[in-house]
Amino acid sequence: MSKKQFKAESKRLLDLMINSIYTHKEIFLREIISNASDAIDKLAYRALTDDRVGLNRDDFRIFISADREAGTLTVSDNGIGMTQEELEQNLGVIAKSGSMAFKAEHGEDGKAADTDIIGQFGVGFYSAFMVSDKVTVISRAYGEDTAHRWESSGADGYTITECEKDSVGTDVIMHMKPDDENERYSDYLMAWKIMRLVKKYSDYIRWPIQMDVEHPETKETGEKNEDGSPKYETVTKVERETINSMVPIWQRSKSEVSDEDCMSFYKEHWHDSTDPAAVIRINAEGQVSYKALLFIPGRQLLDYMTSSYEPGLELYSSGVMIMEHCADVLAESFYFVRGIVDSPDLSLNISREMLQHDRQLKLIAQNINKRIKNELIKMLQNDRPKYEEFYKNYGRQLRYGAVANYGQDIESLRELLLYYTDTDKTATLKEYAAGMPESQSVIYYAMGESVQKILRLPQAELVRSKGYELLCMTDEVDEYIIEQLREQDGKKFCNIVTDDLGLQTEEEKKELEEKENEARDVLDFVRETLGDRVAVVRLSSKLVSAPVCLTTEGSVTLEMERYFKKLPPTGMEPPKARRVLELNADSHAFAALSEAVKSDAGRARKLTDILHTQALLMAGEEIEDPAAYTEEVCSLF
Ligand code: ADP
Repeated sequence: MSKKQFKAESKRLLDLMINSIYTHKEIFLREIISNASDAIDKLAYRALTDDRVGLNRDDFRIFISADREAGTLTVSDNGIGMTQEELEQNLGVIAKSGSMAFKAEHGEDGKAADTDIIGQFGVGFYSAFMVSDKVTVISRAYGEDTAHRWESSGADGYTITECEKDSVGTDVIMHMKPDDENERYSDYLMAWKIMRLVKKYSDYIRWPIQMDVEHPETKETGEKNEDGSPKYETVTKVERETINSMVPIWQRSKSEVSDEDCMSFYKEHWHDSTDPAAVIRINAEGQVSYKALLFIPGRQLLDYMTSSYEPGLELYSSGVMIMEHCADVLAESFYFVRGIVDSPDLSLNISREMLQHDRQLKLIAQNINKRIKNELIKMLQNDRPKYEEFYKNYGRQLRYGAVANYGQDIESLRELLLYYTDTDKTATLKEYAAGMPESQSVIYYAMGESVQKILRLPQAELVRSKGYELLCMTDEVDEYIIEQLREQDGKKFCNIVTDDLGLQTEEEKKELEEKENEARDVLDFVRETLGDRVAVVRLSSKLVSAPVCLTTEGSVTLEMERYFKKLPPTGMEPPKARRVLELNADSHAFAALSEAVKSDAGRARKLTDILHTQALLMAGEEIEDPAAYTEEVCSLF
């Protein structure tokens, strides 16, 4: 019997499989089971219109058996089977879709066999060679009397011979490799391992996956021990069991499965003891059909902010898992969502790279992201405390997602943003704008380390004393968000630290100008004393009771300056804010300073220094020499 050669590219893939150092070899079982399931699909479909098939829907099954002595694992199906030609064509040539992807990824250099590709491509039948040194396929096609045996020990070729087989279908017999230091192939012959793999990868295959499972049982023998107690013996009962659950929870209708069931599923599947904050169930049909079951976790996940967190949904194609973390279906803002997407329109043999460009998947992603947003809006409207809790956990992700990719998603996230306006009060941008009194023309906001600190900013006093609210922003990224959003319902944003508050009448402006002319000497003195520590010194229109505050001019704010300082050095000087020291002409401190400028330059310099340091502290800046500052203050007593 002469050996036939594999087609060139098949041989290359086969080589890769045989010599694979890929760590997820276990996926071979998923691939073989998936082929078996497809074969059953075909015959079951045939049976709908062809009485001669002689099988009912209930008769179809996939059967797994392991022979530890012979070292073989067999996956049998009673599906459509393969003729001699089909064996030749299907198993001698690597499947088209897979092969295209393989070539594209690989170039001409077979060496570049990045082990990861195996995980990315469903490599189908050949994956059996990752764990076997010989594979035998015995198949009898529907409508044929004879069966054929295809056999190969690897890249050197395969043989096909005629043989006997009682019924239609296919047996794939995998002769396990001997164990080595990297892999215990013998484990694949153990019932526990097989069951675990089926549960993990193929639980939702539509057809029953069965196995003869041994159950040791202790039984009374009927005889008695010397002391009169009954004698026991252990007998092993073998029972044929279906080891997959077949219909996944997300395939079932809402009437069959309650939200509580879904929550239990979530907790079990993702090992989270906290109930999810929301369950989203999608059954889409139309342009693209898919089912999805999504969850918003009820707490901040422990590893969420670490690099070990892998975002993405589990991706299935008709019950077969294709990818464990498919991030392409989620907008970055929604990376905290966990769940499952299952679509018959997705091909099993699709690479991660190809998925990114897959039209079906893009449609699914659009749809899913819309649904997540709607769910959050629903929560925001119907259960504010819950939304606030959610926002504490994942608001940061929403905001970072909003500015990712040049802010392309920012508009769609506008409605979801939430800010504190007081220590115990929050507002969305829309709510803020709607609640503005008529006299208020802009939306006031301030940046800072915490809500408390922001509310205590000297500049906040005037705004709040007018009965206007202040959006407290505690995240660097908020500044970019506000910059991109520009306005809300026609109202512009106003940073109370850097921008003109727009609260002065023409008269008040004039008055301030006059006062400033009068105080020219004092302002010049302060400016000179502080040197390049500030760019401008002026009288303030923003202060009520505080004597000083630090503001900035131009596009770089103190927050930005701090942000850039924290970044690793780039060799370029980080941008610096133009600092403005504003003095309150009506304060007692200013009067004292003016007095000192006239009479005691030494004291005036001290007061200037103290006021400047106070302004720095209030703005959340570090002061260079705290000891010198306290000494200076004490020297005034
Ligand atoms: P794919 O499943 O992506 O087409 P595979 O390499 O896994 O690629 O399989 C190649 C082909 O071999 C399948 O398309 C199918 O026609 C055939 N095949 C594989 N396993 C079976 C089986 N158990 N029964 C019938 N046909 C099979």
